[in-house]
Amino acid sequence: MDIEQFRRAGHEAIDRICEYYYTLQDRPVTARVEPGYLRRALPSEAPQTGENFDLITQDYEKYIMPGLTLWHHPSFFAYFPTGSTFEAVLGDLYSGSVPNPGFNWSASPASTELETVVMDWAAKMLGLDSSFRNCANVGGGVIQTTASEAALVAVVAARSRYTKQHPDVSSEKLLIYITTQTHSLGKKAGLVLGLNVRALEVTVEDNFALRGDTLRRALEDDCAAGLHPFILIGTVGTTSSGAVDCLGEIGLVLEDYPFIWLHVDAAWAGIAMVCPEYRDVCALGDINKYGDSFCTNFHKWGLVNFDCSGFWVRDRASLIDALDVTPEFLRTKHGDAGTVIDYRNWHFGLGRKFRSLKLWFVLRSFGVEGFQRYIRETVKLGNMFASLIRESTEFALVTPPSLALTVFRLEPRASPPVPLAKLNELNRVFYARVSARSDIAFTQTDLSGTFCVRMAVGATRTSEDHVKHAYEILCLEGKAALEEWQCATGEVQ
Ligand SMILES: *Cc1c(COP(=O)(O)O)cnc(C)c1O
Repeated sequence: MDIEQFRRAGHEAIDRICEYYYTLQDRPVTARVEPGYLRRALPSEAPQTGENFDLITQDYEKYIMPGLTLWHHPSFFAYFPTGSTFEAVLGDLYSGSVPNPGFNWSASPASTELETVVMDWAAKMLGLDSSFRNCANVGGGVIQTTASEAALVAVVAARSRYTKQHPDVSSEKLLIYITTQTHSLGKKAGLVLGLNVRALEVTVEDNFALRGDTLRRALEDDCAAGLHPFILIGTVGTTSSGAVDCLGEIGLVLEDYPFIWLHVDAAWAGIAMVCPEYRDVCALGDINKYGDSFCTNFHKWGLVNFDCSGFWVRDRASLIDALDVTPEFLRTKHGDAGTVIDYRNWHFGLGRKFRSLKLWFVLRSFGVEGFQRYIRETVKLGNMFASLIRESTEFALVTPPSLALTVFRLEPRASPPVPLAKLNELNRVFYARVSARSDIAFTQTDLSGTFCVRMAVGATRTSEDHVKHAYEILCLEGKAALEEWQCATGEVQ
C-alpha cells in the first residue's frame, strides 16, 4: 500500500467506522457465534500472495464484526465499562503512525515527556497527593497495560524494598495480603512470582470491605508464625460489588508495620475521584495518607480506549531498584546522568506503546469538567436503576449500590421468605434467561454464597431510556423465570 492508497483506504475506514457508530444501537450487544466459528470460516494458512485491501476490509465486516461483543453499546451493563471515545481512537491512530518502543527517553523524547506530563495532569485531576507526581522526581506516574500488571509491578517493588531491609528472610516466608474480594490479580501475582498469598476474610455485615481489626489479627498470627507479610493489596471498588476497603483503619494498623507496602487497586472506581463529591467514598484522603502505590484504569471508566492503566508510586526509587537492568546497549548519556525518566525501568517489558497520546487527546478534549460531567451522568443513571430495584416488589438489592454499580437479585416477597438455596436456583434460571438475550448484557456474581446479578452503567452512549428499557427487560424475564422455576420445582408462591 502506498501513501495515496493509504489515504483512500484511510478515508474509507473512517467512513465505515462512522456508519458503524450510527447503527451501533440497533446491533446485537453480544456476539451470536459458536466457538470455532472463525477457524471454520478462514483459510488454514496465510495467503501465498498479497490480497486486495478492499477484500480484506470486506472480510472484516463479514467475519470479524459478527464475533464482537459490543462493550460500548448503550445496553452493555456487564463487567465494567470500557472507555470509548473518538479522541482516543484518533490518539491510537497517530500513535500507530509513528511506531516507536519508547523504552528510554532518547527512544523518542516526546513519548516519555508526554507521559510524565499527562500522568501529572491526571494525578492532579484525581486529587492524588503531590508526592505521587513526576515533577518532584521522587514519586511518579506511568501508564501500564492493565491493572493486573500494575499490581504485579507493585508487588515486585514491595518485595525488593522488603528483602533489602530483611535480607535474611527466605521467599517461602513472604506473604502477599489480599481479601476474599480482591480481583484475581492478587492470586495471579502470587502465582507468577511463586509467593504465598493470604486472602483475609471480609463479611457481608461490612459490605465486603476489609476492616482494620481483621488485618491486625492476621498480622499478629502470621508474624508470630514467622511469616513476613510485605504488601497489602487494598481495593477501592471491588469487582463483584464495588466495596471499598477501610483504608483509614488499615493505614493506622500499618503504622505499626512500616515495612508493609500498601497498593490501592481502584481499577474501576478510582476515576470517580475526578468529582470532589466522590472523593470521600473512594477514600482519597486515606490513599494520600497511607498508599505506597495507586492504580486506576482510564480504559475502564476513564474515557480512553483499551489499554491505558494509570499507576502511581510515592517512591520511584523502589520501583527502579527492583526493575532496572541496564546492559551497555541501553545506556545513554542522559540515562547515565539520571536527568531523564527511562520508563523501561517502571514496567516489565522493554518496549512500550505511546499510550500517553490518547490520554492527552482525551484530557484536552473533555477537560476536567467533561470528565466530571460524564462520571456524574453515569452515577445518576446507576442511581436511577438502583431506585427502580428498591421500589420493585420482585427484585432486591444485595449490597448498597456503589457509584454506578448495582448488585441485585430476583427476590419475590413471600411469607415465609424463600430460603437462600431456592432463591439461588431461581436467580440462576433468571440469569440464564437474561444472558440468552442478545440485546442486553449483564454479569452474574456470587457474594458469600448469594448468587446475584451486576448492573454497571458507564458506556458513553447510555441514556435514561436505555436504563429504563433494561429494567423492563429484567421485569419481563423475571416474571418468565419465576413461572419457569415454579413449573420445574413445583414451588408455588
Ligand atoms: C477490572 C478490574 C481489574 C482488572 O483490570 P485489568 O486492567 O484488566 O487488569 C482489577 N481490579 C479491579 C478492582 C477491577 O475492577
